[in-house]
Amino acid sequence: MYIVMTSSECAPVAKVGGLGDVIQGLSYELSVRGNHVEVILPKYDCMRYDRTFGLHKVHGDLWVPYYDRWIHCDVYFGFVEGLKCFFIDPHSDHNFFNRGVFYGHLDDPARFAFFSRAALEFLLKTKRHPDVIHCHDWQTGLVPVLLFEMYKQLGMTHPRVCYTLHNLGHQGVTGDHILRQSGLNPAHFMTPDRLRDHSHPNAVNLMKGGIVFSNFVTTVSPRYAEEIKSTNLGTGLQHTLWVHRQKFGGVLNGIDYNVWNPEIDPRIPHCYTVDSLQDKYANKGALRARVWLRHEFKPIVAVVSRLDHQKGVDLIRHAIFYSLANECQFVLLGSSPEPRINDEFWSLKRYLNESPDCHLEIGYDDELAHLIFAGSDMIVIPSAYEPCGLTQMIALKYGTVPIVRNTGGLGDTVYDANYSHKPFHERNGYVFNDYNREGLESALRRAIGLWFDYPVYFRQLMVNGMRLDYSWNHPATHYLNIYGYIKES
Ligand code: ADP
Repeated sequence: MYIVMTSSECAPVAKVGGLGDVIQGLSYELSVRGNHVEVILPKYDCMRYDRTFGLHKVHGDLWVPYYDRWIHCDVYFGFVEGLKCFFIDPHSDHNFFNRGVFYGHLDDPARFAFFSRAALEFLLKTKRHPDVIHCHDWQTGLVPVLLFEMYKQLGMTHPRVCYTLHNLGHQGVTGDHILRQSGLNPAHFMTPDRLRDHSHPNAVNLMKGGIVFSNFVTTVSPRYAEEIKSTNLGTGLQHTLWVHRQKFGGVLNGIDYNVWNPEIDPRIPHCYTVDSLQDKYANKGALRARVWLRHEFKPIVAVVSRLDHQKGVDLIRHAIFYSLANECQFVLLGSSPEPRINDEFWSLKRYLNESPDCHLEIGYDDELAHLIFAGSDMIVIPSAYEPCGLTQMIALKYGTVPIVRNTGGLGDTVYDANYSHKPFHERNGYVFNDYNREGLESALRRAIGLWFDYPVYFRQLMVNGMRLDYSWNHPATHYLNIYGYIKES
């Protein structure tokens, strides 16, 4: 199958969060299975050019409509981790992708609406006719709108569109000038069943456009799919998702086992498998040495997270004190874009500075994250909501028992040691429902108790988690089924 991904991110060249990992991981798995996959990205000035291979200009004459004029673009081609990637480089006073950052400008909707149109113009002019165009998040929500309302009439009758929602926290709500910029008539599209935003009658919702006009819509876990269709987690889009429920479903993300795998991880001092679990404890020693914890007979409880409200910062804070009061050690690695939250954790760090059982590392540190996954006994993920979540899947692979709130992808991947309906050999962690301290304690208490009182069972939970397969293997099969289905429709 010929598949084109249009996205604002692709790891490792342009990665802000999980979206970048998904584009890279899914595209790679689809290519390995013999599909022809191409990725179209903006050519940002702040990309990791050192992670592209053979970057060169392949098209110097792409003219993309913008209001009533045209903007000249170059298109570059290069390999990213073996993937074929095209990079669109517009030349105009707007400097769309030469801003030193990926996101965060007031005209982000205009930047990515332009990118969406440029991607289609590139496909048209180079006579590419993919079977499927796979778009992601609000940044490329206009692609199916433009394809079926404009480019189809210009000859692009073949492609079908799959659209994936990674986080409904950002929907691309903007003014109707975006439609005029893109050559779409606002009178035609600003209706409640098309692109008009649910709460701002004069605003365009780009994500809604993607949902309405695509042939199939997915989100990143089955549980999150249910939640956004039928609860307030839909943040205004629940009605649209309900109307389009026949073409909507959840596909759990995968993680890249070439990167996250204790058997081959070059970033940890001692590699291990289910058959050499004692080596995990050597990593525990290394972690203690790295973050100055004393060597005591205690479990290490960890957090590796963005520190924001979605991730449950108040419960993370409570987990620190609860763990320390219950004979555990605690390691936190996290950072927040919000200065207020960062300050709060810095003062907490100062307050706990003398503790030989606690270390808080405020910042982003990939190397340390690997050591924490390998060296800890448990990891706490008390999210308020979680579309999919990679942390719990990584922890499971490293035999670190996850303690999670029952929401989104967390609920789809972690099965409670005591209360799950699954047989014991499939249970792999602890789950709590209520987003409050009592809820968190109810799960953390049981995990700590098992570690001290029933180490053999605790070890079994670790092994159960390590044996699961949360690679891209299953998700890629699901996506190929979806592509096949929409291709025939
Ligand atoms: P998000 O909503 O932030 O994308 P996920 O659980 O999907 O959450 O993915 C988080 C990824 O980022 C994981 O791979 C985790 O290890 C990593 N991560 C989060 N915070 C940090 C940090 N401070 N330092 C290093 N890695 C981090």
